[in-house]
Amino acid sequence: MALSESDLITRFFRNCGAQRRDVVLGVGDDAALTECPPGMQLAATTDTLVAGVHFPHPTPPAAIGHRALAVNLSDLAAMGARPAWALLALTLPEAGESWLTEFAAGFGALARAHEVALIGGDTTQGPLTVSVQLLGHVPRGRALTRAGGRAGQLVYVSGTPGDAAAGLALEQGRLGAPPQAAPYLRERFLMPTPRVALGERLRDYACACIDVSDGLLGDAGKLAAASGVGLEMYYAALPVSRALVEAVGANAARELALTGGDDYELLFTVEPARAAELERALPQEQWNYRQIGVLRAAAGVVLTRDGTVMDFSHSGYQHFS
Ligand code: ADP
Ligand code: MG
Repeated sequence: MALSESDLITRFFRNCGAQRRDVVLGVGDDAALTECPPGMQLAATTDTLVAGVHFPHPTPPAAIGHRALAVNLSDLAAMGARPAWALLALTLPEAGESWLTEFAAGFGALARAHEVALIGGDTTQGPLTVSVQLLGHVPRGRALTRAGGRAGQLVYVSGTPGDAAAGLALEQGRLGAPPQAAPYLRERFLMPTPRVALGERLRDYACACIDVSDGLLGDAGKLAAASGVGLEMYYAALPVSRALVEAVGANAARELALTGGDDYELLFTVEPARAAELERALPQEQWNYRQIGVLRAAAGVVLTRDGTVMDFSHSGYQHFS
C-alpha cells in the first residue's frame, strides 16, 4: 500500500463520523469504549458489501461509503433503534488516496447526518470488501421486531419500492430510461435513504417492522412468517414512482416494486384502531408511507387485485435480460 495503515486510518477515518460525548475512547486503541445510556438496550447489526456482488464494479467510492453505512442504518431503523456508533472493516486492493477521500466523504456525510461516530475498525489488503457494524440503542423492551404482527393489522410500506432495482439495472447497462427518470433511479440505488427517523417514531404505533432490502414480497413474507400469520397485499395499492413507470411501464414497475431489491424502505404493521392516530401524528404526505395490505390468519403471502388472488411469478428481473 502506498500509505501506511496507521497513516491511512489517521488521515481518513479518525475524524470521519460524528463527534459524540458518549465515546470514551474512539479510533486508536485496541478497542473502543462507549457509555451506554441508562434504561436502554443495545441494538447491534452488521452488513458486508463485496464489490461485484453487492454493488457493480466500478461504483463511485462515495456511493460505496454511503451505502455501506446506509444498509446498516436501515436495519436499526427497522428495530426502532437510534444509531450511535459504527465500526468499519475495510479490505482494499490498494490504498488509493482519491478513492479513500471520496469513500470517507460518502461514509462520513451520512454518519454525521445521523450523529453516528466511527469508533474503530480494521484495514486490510485484498479484493474490495466493506463491512460495517452499527451499534445503537432503544428504550428497554420497546424495540420493533418482525414477530409482533397479528391477523387484522394493517400493513404499510414507506417510499416507492422498485426504484433501486431499476437504478441498478441502469448502472449495469441492462436498462435504458428517459432522461428525466434515469438520474433519479440511479440515485435511488447508489445513495439509498435509510428511514431512521420513521423507524424511531414508529415505536409508538407499529406492532411489527422489517426493512425491505431483498424485495417487498419476500421481506413481507419474512415478517408474516416470524409473526405466525399470513399477509394479503393489494396490487393496486403498491406505491410506484413516476420515474419507474416512465422507465419500465406500469406493469413492470409493480413487478419491480414487489421483487426488486436494495430499497431500504420500512414495511410495518399497525392495529386498525391505531391507524387514524398514526396518520395524524405522521402525515402520510410528509412521511411518505402507504397502506398496501393486511395481515391474515392463513399463512402465506397473497397478492390480490379487485378482490381476487393474482397468480404472481417472480419475473421482475427478466424484463432487463
Ligand atoms: P489492531 O492491530 O490492534 O487491530 P489496527 O492497527 O488494526 O489495530 O487499528 C488501529 C486503530 O484504528 C484501532 O482503534 C482500530 O479500531 C482503528 N481502525 C483501523 N481501521 C479502521 C478503519 N477502516 N476505520 C476506522 N477505524 C479503524
Ligand atoms: Mg486491526
